[in-house]
Parts: sequence; C-alpha cells; structure tokens
Amino acid sequence: VQQFFRPIQILSQFYTQAQSAFAGLERIFSLLDEPSQLNDAPDAIEMPPIQGEVTFENVSFGYTSEKLVIHNVNLQAKPGQMIALVGPTGAGKSTFINLILRFYDVSGGAVKIDGIDVRSVTQASLRRQIGIVLQDNILFTGTVAENIAFGAPHATHAAIETAAQLANVHEFITSLPQGYATQLGERGAPLSQGQRQLVSIARAVLIDPRILILDEATSSIDTRTEALVQDAIARLLKGRTSFVIAHRLSTVTQADQVVVVQQGQIVEQGTHAELVARQGVYANLYALQLGMTS
Ligand code: ADP
Repeated sequence: VQQFFRPIQILSQFYTQAQSAFAGLERIFSLLDEPSQLNDAPDAIEMPPIQGEVTFENVSFGYTSEKLVIHNVNLQAKPGQMIALVGPTGAGKSTFINLILRFYDVSGGAVKIDGIDVRSVTQASLRRQIGIVLQDNILFTGTVAENIAFGAPHATHAAIETAAQLANVHEFITSLPQGYATQLGERGAPLSQGQRQLVSIARAVLIDPRILILDEATSSIDTRTEALVQDAIARLLKGRTSFVIAHRLSTVTQADQVVVVQQGQIVEQGTHAELVARQGVYANLYALQLGMTS
C-alpha cells in the first residue's frame, strides 16, 4: 500500500548535498546540521555509548510556529526493540525520525535516548551512533570500500569485508573485476538498486549502532537480491533498537510495537496481533493491504 509512505525527505536532501563532497565524517555532520541549523548547546556533552532506549515524552512539534504536526506523543522503545511506524503519507512518521536524529528541536516535551535529552548532547556524537538505511540508498563517487566505510573512516579492510559478508554483498563485490577497489560513479553506478541497498546495509553493519533507522523500500527489485536484502536487514536489526517506516506486512508482524500514526498523533499502539484483535484503524489498514496483495 504505497500511499501510506514517503521517503524521509530531509535525509535524502542531505545525501544529495553530501554526494559532491565525500570528504570525511565531520564534513558530513556539518552538512547534516544545515536543514535545521541547530547549534549544539554551549554545555553540550558527548553522547555516551548508546544502550538503545528511546523515549518521546509528551512531544509536540511543528516545522513552523503556526502549525504543529506532532501532538503530545508518548512512546518508549526499550533497548533492542523494533518499532514499526505505519500510517498515511503526511502522518508524521518521518518527522519522528527527524526528531530522534535532532534535525529539529521539539516544540514541547522531550526526546530522550537512554534518558538523556537529545538537545543536551553534541549532534555529531548523537548521529554517529545511529545507523540509517533509506529507500534511496545514496552512494558516493569513490570505491566500494570507501562507500562501506562512510560512517567509519578508520575501519580496517578486514572489518569492511566482514561487514560486507554480514550484509550479503561480499560475494558480489569480489566478483567485480576490481573488487573492493571498484570505483562507483554518480548514484552508485554500475550497481543495481538492490546492490546499492546491500552496500548501504554493510555501511550500517560496520558502524554497529545500537539504534537503527530503516525506511523500507517500496519499489521492487529482483527476487534473488530482494531475498538477500531481507536476510541482511533481519540480521542487521537483531539486538538493536530500530525504528522502521514499514511497508511490508512481514515487518509489522515481527515488530515489538506497531505504532499507528495519523495526523501527528499515535492513534493505536501494540503488537500486530493485538492491533488486529482490536479491530480499529490498524485492522482496517491490514485488511485493505491483504485485499490488495492477494
Ligand atoms: P510521513 O513521514 O508520515 O509521510 P511527515 O513526517 O513527512 O509524514 O510529515 C508530517 C507533516 O509535516 C506533513 O503535514 C508534512 O507536510 C509536514 N512536513 C514534513 N516535512 C516538512 C518540512 N520540512 N517543512 C514543513 N512541513 C513539513
């Protein structure tokens, strides 16, 4: 049901900007700051190693002061839990993600990680500990190895290979004439979309983050690569707190919490089975999706 979903625009913008400037992490983080031009607090601390609890405490937010798009949201992800965000386009799912990464500051309430308000830590120390896999996996002009090491510029070649293995892409990379030294062009050419996804999963594996953001792909790729992607994602999610903008039934059925967002509010929350039994909004969406895929 594609109309539920939309890419995380702000992140896509960032990657587009960053594409022309593959110049190391600090540069990237300074670009990341641009959408909101937030400053670190003068007394900001380094985010300690994240355990993975994410809490929204009575969060309200508007991109402009005239209109709130998030209203009084309360949500707690325990370390290791998978949270599936579902709801119509424009509901506010991507905005949740933007607030976790502190691309914007809340208008009311607080977003906390391990009990620490995200406004009180440096943005760089926050974001380098959160893995992001988007639908549109943007790669950079550079080698395959450099692309995998994007968030971990000091990674050894062995670590890069291990990450690629876990992401089901090592075999493919070694089949290329230049292997890991293969130069990628604009938008990751000559890799297929599915192969680009696998490379971006390897990138996230290498960071080994406690928190992972995943915007599931809507467009279909060939069946074999799709199976590799799903297998790699399942492995990547394991043991991490994840926020998944979910497009697949198989994702929502596995989630520890399904969070149904409508007009900036959480209208239902629970496991897939609980929500189906409730016969409310989610059960209707689910019935609709079953109807469309059968
Ligand atoms: P979803 O991810 O569920 O499709 P979003 O979080 O993208 O929803 O959008 C929530 C609301 O915020 C929508 O009304 C959308 O138009 C608005 N919105 C999203 N991004 C921006 C932005 N950068 N500036 C202003 N409004 C925005």
